[in-house]
Amino acid sequence: MAWKLSTPLRDIPWIPANFVEDLRAAGIETVEDLLYDLPIRYEDWREARPIGRLVSGRETLVRGVVTQVERRVTPRQRVKLLRVYLQDSTGQMVLVFFNQPYMAKRLTPGLEVFAYGEVGRDRDYWMFPCMQNPQVFLPEEAQRRDLPGRYVPIYRKVGRLTTRRLETFIQRLLAEVRDGLDEPLPQSVRQKYHFPDRATALAYVHQPPSDLPIETLQTHQDPAFQRLVYEDLFLLQLGLAFRRVLLYEQPVGIAFRVTPDIEADIQRLLPFELTVAQKRVLQEILADMQKPQPLHRLLQGDVGSGKTIIAAACMLVAVRNGYQACLMAPTEILAEQHFYNLKRWFRPLEVPVALLIGGLRKRERAEVLRWIAQGHAPIVVGTHALFQEDVQYARLGFVVIDEQHRFGVRHRARIRAKGQRPDTLVMTATPIPRSLALTLYGDLDVSVLDELPPGRQPVETRHVTTRYREDVYRWVAHQLDEGHQAYIVCPLIEESEKLQVQAATRLYEELSHGWLRGYRLGLVHGQLKREDREAVMDAFVQGDLQALVATTVIEVGVDNPNATVMVIEHAERFGLAQLHQLRGRVGRGSARSYCILITPPQVGADAKVRIQALLEYRSGFDIAEIDLRLRGPGELAGVRQAGLARLRVADLVRDHAWIPRIRQDVEEYARRFLAASGEAGRQQAIRFLRQWAHHYGLVQVG
Ligand code: ADP
Ligand code: MG
Repeated sequence: MAWKLSTPLRDIPWIPANFVEDLRAAGIETVEDLLYDLPIRYEDWREARPIGRLVSGRETLVRGVVTQVERRVTPRQRVKLLRVYLQDSTGQMVLVFFNQPYMAKRLTPGLEVFAYGEVGRDRDYWMFPCMQNPQVFLPEEAQRRDLPGRYVPIYRKVGRLTTRRLETFIQRLLAEVRDGLDEPLPQSVRQKYHFPDRATALAYVHQPPSDLPIETLQTHQDPAFQRLVYEDLFLLQLGLAFRRVLLYEQPVGIAFRVTPDIEADIQRLLPFELTVAQKRVLQEILADMQKPQPLHRLLQGDVGSGKTIIAAACMLVAVRNGYQACLMAPTEILAEQHFYNLKRWFRPLEVPVALLIGGLRKRERAEVLRWIAQGHAPIVVGTHALFQEDVQYARLGFVVIDEQHRFGVRHRARIRAKGQRPDTLVMTATPIPRSLALTLYGDLDVSVLDELPPGRQPVETRHVTTRYREDVYRWVAHQLDEGHQAYIVCPLIEESEKLQVQAATRLYEELSHGWLRGYRLGLVHGQLKREDREAVMDAFVQGDLQALVATTVIEVGVDNPNATVMVIEHAERFGLAQLHQLRGRVGRGSARSYCILITPPQVGADAKVRIQALLEYRSGFDIAEIDLRLRGPGELAGVRQAGLARLRVADLVRDHAWIPRIRQDVEEYARRFLAASGEAGRQQAIRFLRQWAHHYGLVQVG
């Protein structure tokens, strides 16, 4: 038969049309999709265990003779209960069925049956092992279904297809497609890890050999499964590596020059002594900038680690080389704040800084656009408005993207289209664990700022229940009396911006007429007009306002070193990364800082874990790992854009140990491949890349 992996299932005559329909609805369209729909678990039907030697807590197969059947109705819950006694030569056990009266008809004393289920202890007769609602088959039935004597794979439910039916299809496909299974992994890799080939691996996971220990199977340690995990991650990363080598490592970028004059300018720009980590990272970036290949670097650094100044120094280099540089922030507030800081830093150097955000008036906007187009604006700060269609840069050479997790890959592509391949620096406050970052940003180099500026004190984090709200605000008032400043974050309402604004306004009213009466309070939320918002933020940074009631608009980046108190109302509603970001708004000066999390007395289990994590950990890396475990990678920002949602076998949490190794293997392989196979190989890599981008739903950049 001539099936290939890419053959659509509808072309296979022996799969009935209604099943093809159901499979398609579940996202299974081709032979490949079906073969990679791996069992979600296995039942161990290899041999029946003697009833006298059953182990509690394990799924087990037993074979015995029914000795007695009792029917009962529990008095309170009105559940129909059936107790069936089963015996073999080694002992006796009980099978309990709830609400399955037809079982009584099937199971009569004297009958021999197979039962499969999890072994527990019977509540009424503690000395008997017991199974609740087990599967029961007559021996002929079990034989007919081909159950005994092997591991039985269980597939996720797909429409009207039973797991047995899926298995039949898969087994037949495996037999018929065998020659169409080309091997995607290079020989070198298969040898290195002693991996079986693709056909063997697939056959193995769909029907594991019975001599494989159950523990190996359950923990996915068998080489066949590991090979498929590897394959999954390898192919994803190979695309990233090819993309990097083919697109980014060509000498088509700008080779900036860093002369002694420019170095002196950098020194004049810096308002403070850089930390060791900042110096190292700046050198890494400057080294990249001087190469003719376009720079694609990710700068990871925890909240408050001082990424902005590094960006500024790099932008200065671009400007002194005669190019424009821009800095893109995820929110208008943050853009305005960067604008304010950069203006201050660049003033002594007489480099003007322009702001381009959505909230500009028409005339203002037209003027800024003109400056940009004529090259009079060497430095532009803004939101994604920076890359709208009507924005034309005279000579864009350097792009900084702050807080990358808010932007998709698409953005990066759009930006590159604006300049002649400007260098791109992406900055993020580590909402992403290291292992994941390697996969997510496999086409970027990574620099890590792992040191906070001197004098920082850890933020003291406390959790209190709403019963103590009054005490909290009395204490806040006391802090304000002492000359400190506070943020007060109102409860999160994700469903509606309008309700969110109402919640913020309500809290503001409540506090300014109540516990914080007489103090200078400000209010900031997403619906304020730009001038008003700017006025409020300015007043807060200048110290005219003592406390700021806010929505999460202040979540990222906002910087006021005098603020030492962060109060978060209904902290249980926020995500972990969000709480970490919010906490990062304080602890930026040398004074002792506090973060107070207020929740109702009862919160859900996940919320408890999040709050505990925040109390326990300070580092964004640790917090991100916990977040990953809590929510799974699918929920993490950026994951979907990065194509990770399309991983079929690999699980980024379970299989994280593979990631750095695979990245290295891929890197070596891609380079060797491209070096050895010349133009033909290049074309092949480009073809691969095209399919790859399609498969993972990624934009092809180039
Ligand atoms: P983030 O990495 O979160 O973007 P910022 O760039 O906003 O951090 O820096 C946080 C604060 O630390 C800012 O007020 C900044 O001016 C200050 N800062 C950064 N680097 C240093 C340094 N080397 N010494 C002193 N203060 C610094
Ligand atoms: Mg920042």
